[in-house]
Amino acid sequence: MSQRLQIERVPALQDNYLWLVREPRSGFVAVVDPADPVPVKAALQRNEWTLTHILNTHHHPDHVGGNLALKQEFNCTIVGPAPDATRIPGIDVKVGDGDTYRFGEAEAKVFFVPGHTRGHIAYWFADHAALFCGDTLFALGCGRLFEGTPEQMWRSLSTLRALPPETEVYCAHEYTQSNARFALTVDPQNQALKARAQQIDEMRARNIPTVPSTLGEEKRTNPFLRADDPGVAQAVGLAGADPVKVFAEVRARKDSFR
Ligand code: ZN
Ligand code: FE
Repeated sequence: MSQRLQIERVPALQDNYLWLVREPRSGFVAVVDPADPVPVKAALQRNEWTLTHILNTHHHPDHVGGNLALKQEFNCTIVGPAPDATRIPGIDVKVGDGDTYRFGEAEAKVFFVPGHTRGHIAYWFADHAALFCGDTLFALGCGRLFEGTPEQMWRSLSTLRALPPETEVYCAHEYTQSNARFALTVDPQNQALKARAQQIDEMRARNIPTVPSTLGEEKRTNPFLRADDPGVAQAVGLAGADPVKVFAEVRARKDSFR
């Protein structure tokens, strides 16, 4: 049985979460999606850790903004999506769908999850029940479709949804409260969602982070994982429709939700 990964949340920019991941046997330390080098360095110093790796999920500046500064300072290895290698500053190791990336004594399985961007990937540490999914799956939400189709995103989310329910979902933003307000409009009969929305309001009122959540919670309450649920289809006026159509409608409504 492998020792647990140590995972620390590092808030950055407006609402980003970067994740420091330490593998205790090797002492390797990765940061997932470093938006900004400054809070990463502060967190490393606080823990007396040295950065060895950067794991990128996609190319957006709020995910790779710290790559080059951190590489210059720590000479760390940058791992990122092969399908998007040209857009990942300083990339050393290119990984794609189905690859296993060995991180010290831990292993991450890589999923290709296009939709938010055309090259987005996610890292799943199966033995540690940890999923780093960038801007693909959020607590009660999903990423905007900047470069992909609803069909691609639904397929990507379906891949992640199939992981074990105890999986912890380490997404890259604290968007949960506004996601919850929207979710209630497209899944109004969902009691688990109502209860969760209330809990989230209480947490945010006390400035408590809502990430990570578990995949089991997301399956029960995240409308973007529930496009094949009759209640959601009904609520958006698409009872009996194909889940891709329902998903597209839910995503479109979210885009214009205020
Ligand atoms: Zn993004
Ligand atoms: Fe982002």
